[in-house]
Amino acid sequence: MIGKPLVVLGSVNADHILQVKELPRPGETVTGHGYRVVPGGKGANQAVAAVRLGARTAFIACVGEDDFGRRMKDAFQAKGMDTRGIMVEEGMPTGMAMIFVAENGENCIGISPEANACLTPERLAPHLGLIRGASALLMQMETPMETVIMAAEEAKKAGVPVALNPAPARSLPEELLKNLAIITPNETEAAALTGIAIQDAASAMEAAACLHGMGVATVIITLGAKGAFVSAKGRGAVVPGFHVTPVDTTAAGDTFNGALMAALQRGDQLPEAIAFSHAAAALSVMRMGAQTSIPTRKEAEDFLR
Ligand code: ADP
Repeated sequence: MIGKPLVVLGSVNADHILQVKELPRPGETVTGHGYRVVPGGKGANQAVAAVRLGARTAFIACVGEDDFGRRMKDAFQAKGMDTRGIMVEEGMPTGMAMIFVAENGENCIGISPEANACLTPERLAPHLGLIRGASALLMQMETPMETVIMAAEEAKKAGVPVALNPAPARSLPEELLKNLAIITPNETEAAALTGIAIQDAASAMEAAACLHGMGVATVIITLGAKGAFVSAKGRGAVVPGFHVTPVDTTAAGDTFNGALMAALQRGDQLPEAIAFSHAAAALSVMRMGAQTSIPTRKEAEDFLR
């Protein structure tokens, strides 16, 4: 790989999806259809997005010693990722999510981290060199918190910018926030981090100010169909996204994050990087699926023209 890679550290899941008419109530059994197992996990989705959208990408993750885990590792390699940081955990299954999707689009998800929980600071230690040599580090919150903290600290010490997509929503310790260059919460996650409900530009501005106060230079609060509130260098504004007819919004945020890091790696300034990310994410919501819905760099660039 020529040039420094973006390092993505995060989860790999097998998503077990069942379509149902209505979500089951407690104690109820419902018969569904269209059962399928597809690749998922925020880490994997964002690493795949980064590589498809043109970033040199290395992925640090733990998969299980099962057929799905091995197939995933091969698939990441086939997509052109550096997979030396993907560890196969002896005797463990790959992480998994059970997803019910109702006809009205509502869903209900249970996750079991399995091998993702094995990504401890000890397991990360041999891969710290990869992080120190990265163009940037991108992480989410589906792997153990101590590991995310350690990776951010090592990256920051080596002058590598750290981006965190703080999903799923939770509060974060100061020792992590102080090492972040970029944070990309959605509205729910921004509220969980700051205690401020995001209702409009003013409340987004307030939440962004709160996150700047915690030490993060660039705050991007994604607002679904409304775009994103982008705040950096003392200026914050809503940057609208693209108006499209959504088919499936799964992995919109993951596509946005991968696209953002790919654009920044190429040297785009923040406004161009946001436009590219909105384009990539808009294309992803027009298609079914998570990883399968992520566009290529060329598709995103053509959409922008
Ligand atoms: P998450 O998927 O993490 O909840 P959001 O829903 O905020 O994240 O969406 C992330 C990005 O995906 C948005 O900033 C936007 O670029 C794009 N996006 C999401 N939903 C739509 C939509 N309905 N139409 C167009 N773009 C969308």
